[in-house]
Amino acid sequence: MRASTGADDGDRGATPGSLRAEVVSIGDELTTGQRLDTNSQWLSRELGLLGVPVAFHTTVTDSLEDGLAAFRIARERADVILVTGGLGPTADDLTRDVLARVAEVPLELSAGALADVESRFARRAAPMPESNRRQALFPRGSRIIVNPEGTAPGIDLDLSRTGSAGAARVFALPGVPGEMITMWQATVGPAILSLLPGAGTIRFRRIKCFGAGESAIEAMLPDLVRRGREPLVGITAHEATITLRIAARGADAAACEGAIAPIEALIRGCLGGIVFGTEDDELEDAVLASLAAADATLATVEIGSLGQVAGLLAAAAARGPAGRFLGGVVLPGMAAGTSVTELATRRRAESGASYGLAVGPVVPAPGSDGNGGAGVTMVEIVLVGPDSLTRREHRLGGAGSVRLARASKTAIDLVRGAAGAPLAAEDKSRGAAG
Ligand code: AMP
Ligand code: MG
Repeated sequence: MRASTGADDGDRGATPGSLRAEVVSIGDELTTGQRLDTNSQWLSRELGLLGVPVAFHTTVTDSLEDGLAAFRIARERADVILVTGGLGPTADDLTRDVLARVAEVPLELSAGALADVESRFARRAAPMPESNRRQALFPRGSRIIVNPEGTAPGIDLDLSRTGSAGAARVFALPGVPGEMITMWQATVGPAILSLLPGAGTIRFRRIKCFGAGESAIEAMLPDLVRRGREPLVGITAHEATITLRIAARGADAAACEGAIAPIEALIRGCLGGIVFGTEDDELEDAVLASLAAADATLATVEIGSLGQVAGLLAAAAARGPAGRFLGGVVLPGMAAGTSVTELATRRRAESGASYGLAVGPVVPAPGSDGNGGAGVTMVEIVLVGPDSLTRREHRLGGAGSVRLARASKTAIDLVRGAAGAPLAAEDKSRGAAG
């Protein structure tokens, strides 16, 4: 066996451009529901970013028979098989045995891997249990994937197919999420990238949007969000923030950036003020930036959003421009006879801020029966500025925690519009529904 970074060195049967992946998670703790399989989610996202579609997720017990059955199926239908779990030293860690059996090759001791495992124990001044020798066993013909963080190295192996020509390429990694991630980033991700056509490098740009739903945003873009497109544009939603992710492959970073730039310009042109930032920017960061640009300040008071508006703004102030958010008040309810507009006006006056933002209590939406079913409640949001008053009724739709996030972000977005950045959607009295 050869230690390798996993670079292609032969026919893998993986036709360029048509790689399909399967993710196999191994462990009784997964099949019994005692632990959630987060590795599949993480790996599938990463594969997606590389442009490799994941066709199957398989979760299988620690038993030899079940493992054999899973790999006999996977090798026939996937070009790359990402495996996590079962590489530990104990008797129930059978992934190496399963792979050797499926490949019909013996397990062989790697002197190099054994020395590596031994040296890890030596560094901790601990005796190596005999069982850890197992971690230096590899199926004949496989390649070792170095594990910088633990004792279990990974296995990179070809599994020939019975039904068709070629082979499936297996990358088996430890189940410990941190180790798996490190090994993916150092070795497996680059190895898979090198199997793809025009392999070079890949670069991403995330464009962050707020103010329209996922499908509405997709409809505003000219056929950009399409499978197999190059550069690839993906769309995801999290608590009403929509992220467009551009992924470009190219010979080098400059080629990738060159491919990304016109797509980003096109997206910005189509979406206008719906775009509030890039990469890790959040709406509240954009708001503080626009307040800073306008040399303005903001204070908040909220009831229906339970302090989330203040929480988001305080967090943004801690990582961004200081002195723009003058603080938030969270009230348990509204005194009889008070209006949300009065709350905003008073908050502005007492804080000395340029803008006072108030989020009122959750109330039955006008025209509803008030029985509290989904979509029949609303919150009133009012922003009072030096010479402006913006009022919005936001209907609460969707699941509980998402409703709150939407309402809070809708309130924050009012400030973005008022403090400079043009709001894409017209400021209607009824805000983005749902
Ligand atoms: P193993 O490599 O099977 O010995 O697993 C080592 C550790 O990683 C255990 O604590 C497992 O519960 C955890 N683990 C294994 N597979 C997964 C998975 N698919 N997602 C999250 N954690 C896992
Ligand atoms: Mg296990």
